[in-house]
Amino acid sequence: VSTRSLRSPKPRLIGGVEAGGSKFLCAISTAAGKRVATSGRITASNPAKTVEEVVAFFAEHAPDGLDALGIASFGPVELDPASDQWGYITNTPKRLWVNFPLAPTLSQRLKCPVAIQTDVNAAALGEYRHGAGKGAHTLVYVTVGTGIGGGVLVKGKFPFAHRHPELGHMQISRLDHNDSWPGACKYHRDCLEGLASAAAIRARWDRDGSEIPPKDPAWNYVAHYLACGVVNIALTLSPDRILLGGGVLQSPGLLEKVQAGAQRLLRRYVPMPELLAPRFEDSGLVGALALASDSLKDGRKPSS
Ligand SMILES: [Zn+2]
Repeated sequence: VSTRSLRSPKPRLIGGVEAGGSKFLCAISTAAGKRVATSGRITASNPAKTVEEVVAFFAEHAPDGLDALGIASFGPVELDPASDQWGYITNTPKRLWVNFPLAPTLSQRLKCPVAIQTDVNAAALGEYRHGAGKGAHTLVYVTVGTGIGGGVLVKGKFPFAHRHPELGHMQISRLDHNDSWPGACKYHRDCLEGLASAAAIRARWDRDGSEIPPKDPAWNYVAHYLACGVVNIALTLSPDRILLGGGVLQSPGLLEKVQAGAQRLLRRYVPMPELLAPRFEDSGLVGALALASDSLKDGRKPSS
C-alpha cells in the first residue's frame, strides 16, 4: 500500500474576494463553509499591484490552489455571460479600473473557476445563506456608506441575470420646501446617494455622520431620504425583507426612524417589508465565498 493512498483526500478550499473601491479583502474557507484564513486590508491602488497582493495571499494560505473563487465587486460590472467583457469593471470614477478585466484576470492567475457579482448582490446572498436574510422570499440588501448600493435576491437567485440594479441612484422627494441643498452625486446631484450617503452627509453638514449626535435635526433629513428609498423599493420589488446597513446606519436610532418614516409614507397601501440590520460586517466577503461554493457546481472554467 503506497503512502499516497493512505492519505485522506485534500480538503477542497474555496476563495472569496470583496473588491471595494478603496480596499480589497480576501478569505479562504472549506467547501463546507469553515473560514480558514482572512486577509488584511489590500489597498485598491492600481489594478496590477492589487491583483499581485490578492494572488500572493491565496498562494500563501492555499498553496495547493483553490477549487473556485467568488468575487464581490464594486461596480458597475459586466455580468452578461455572453459578453466578451464578462467580469470586467466597466464605468467607474476610479480611472485606473475602467474596463479592467477583474474576473478573467483572477481566473487566469488562480487557475480556477470564478463567479462574480456586484458587492451588494453578493452581500445579499451572504446574508440570505448565513445571516439576517435567511428564509426571506424577496430580499433586498442596501448599504449606506460612502455611496449607496442595493442588491436583490429572489428565492436565493439573482433575478436580473445580465445586469444589476443601481438602487442608490433612485430619485426621491425632499423633506420639505426649505430643503434645497443641491446634493452630492456627480451624475444626478440629489438622487438617494447624493442626499443620504456618508459622502453627502459630510459635504452637507461638514462633519462625518459619527460626529453628528443622534438628536441633531440632520438625521430627520437623512431618515426621510432613506425612508423614501425603502418605500420605492417596497413598491417596485415587493420584498418581504430589506436589510439596511453600512456606516451611516451606525447612528443610534436611525434604523427605527427610517422604519417609522417609511411606514408613514406607505400609508398601509402595501405591507411594510421587514426592515433589519445585516448580521455580518463583511457580508460581501461572506457572499463571495457563497458564490465560490456555488461555482464549484456551475462556475466558469479558468480563462486560458
Ligand atoms: Zn446618483
